[in-house]
Amino acid sequence: MNKELLRKLPKIDELLKNESILKLLEENSRTLVLESLRESIEFYRNGILKGSVTSITTEGVIDLSSHLLKEKSKMHLRRVINGTGTVIHTNLGRSILSERAIENVIEVAVNYNNLEYEISKGKRGSRYSHIEDIIRRITGAEAAMVVNNNAAAIMLVLDTLAKEKEVIVSRGELVEIGGSFRIPDVMKFSGAKLVEVGTTNRTHLYDYENNITEETGVFLKVHTSNFKVMGFTEAVSLEEMVALGEKHNIPVVEDIGSGVLVDFSKYGFTYEPTVQASLAKGVDVVTFSGDKMLGGPQAGIIVGKKKFIDKMKKNQLTRALRVDKMTLAALEGTFKYYIDEKDAIENIPSLNMILMPAEQVKQKCNTLKRKLQSKIKDCTFKIDKGESMVGGGSMPTEKIPTYVIKVSNNRLSPETMEEKLRLGETSLVARVYDNELVLDGRTLFKRDFDEIVECFRKVLE
Ligand SMILES: *Cc1c(COP(=O)(O)O)cnc(C)c1O
Repeated sequence: MNKELLRKLPKIDELLKNESILKLLEENSRTLVLESLRESIEFYRNGILKGSVTSITTEGVIDLSSHLLKEKSKMHLRRVINGTGTVIHTNLGRSILSERAIENVIEVAVNYNNLEYEISKGKRGSRYSHIEDIIRRITGAEAAMVVNNNAAAIMLVLDTLAKEKEVIVSRGELVEIGGSFRIPDVMKFSGAKLVEVGTTNRTHLYDYENNITEETGVFLKVHTSNFKVMGFTEAVSLEEMVALGEKHNIPVVEDIGSGVLVDFSKYGFTYEPTVQASLAKGVDVVTFSGDKMLGGPQAGIIVGKKKFIDKMKKNQLTRALRVDKMTLAALEGTFKYYIDEKDAIENIPSLNMILMPAEQVKQKCNTLKRKLQSKIKDCTFKIDKGESMVGGGSMPTEKIPTYVIKVSNNRLSPETMEEKLRLGETSLVARVYDNELVLDGRTLFKRDFDEIVECFRKVLE
């Protein structure tokens, strides 16, 4: 019986003449097609030997190899649909790029460009020149530069201003940010010596002043963006720190984290310090991320006094932390929107989603619900109120009123549906809450609605 079945296994040579395989070869790598055919035959051979396969057809072998081929051809880094309602989702790629940022990236990536070429002079130029003016214009800084991410920015700033010197930081600001990025550890890499002052909940100006020595290189202020200390607290204001720094000739550096350029309190949110406000208060150097509240590509932006930024540009470390042309293109495209705040809110997806009124989210949910109801018969969909999050370690206490679609099915548990939606051809990431599958309309796009319906159809078939 086994022998007979084994003899029925198609040969690679025969399969390569088959219509559907010939078609696959037209659109796919030959290496991957052959690999898939071999793996499919191997699967059936093992099944026959173990007794789990009792019949075999050429179609069956071809179907399995098509499936394997599809998996092999898929990109490992690929899109997902974010139904979680967390806008700057660290696991899902943080900020989505705006249209102008994307167009700019494509333009610069498929063509030669003036990355390090000064067109007016026909001579070598600097890659940092392209974005410095626009960043200065938006933030009000004397000078600016950009490195790979905010962690790199802090490292470069401390290496430049405080190598083998002491950096005074409040104990209330020794934060760990997602992905085990810890301020104290980053400081070690930079060769700066950490001097912790104050306590977790209270730090006074005298804590800084009493710890100044010959070796003090920098006062560092870290914005505790991903948590809040409540109750009996005291922190030194930026103004006080700047005054103390001026008195002792010690630069004040602030890691502001998220890179907020818009005053969110105007739109009903709790005030989150802006880059502009810190610079206006006289902080010497401010660092922030490009892909959090700014809504651009991964980058670390350093702004502040020209004499300090010039030193950083000359630091050898800058070469190792430098950004690619695609980052610069995306960043310039993003910053350009900030010339008019209204444009920024309208066109930068992270800002747009965070500030979208709940009623508008409700309308999106209604449209999606109607589509789902007309195509997916054995599920119930109901719209309810919910709460979205900003994410990315930004504004941790801000709960944004939103609307969600709750999905239930009497055959599949919410956990099973969640898993199947996640593992589908296009991954739809949803939450399970209170024994229901929940999709937050805030982070869903109308352009994906048909595909979301398709995701559900596949799960339930
Ligand atoms: C997010 C964050 C960082 C790290 O920024 P990356 O751009 O992810 O390197 C550093 N400091 C603070 C306060 C942050 O919020």
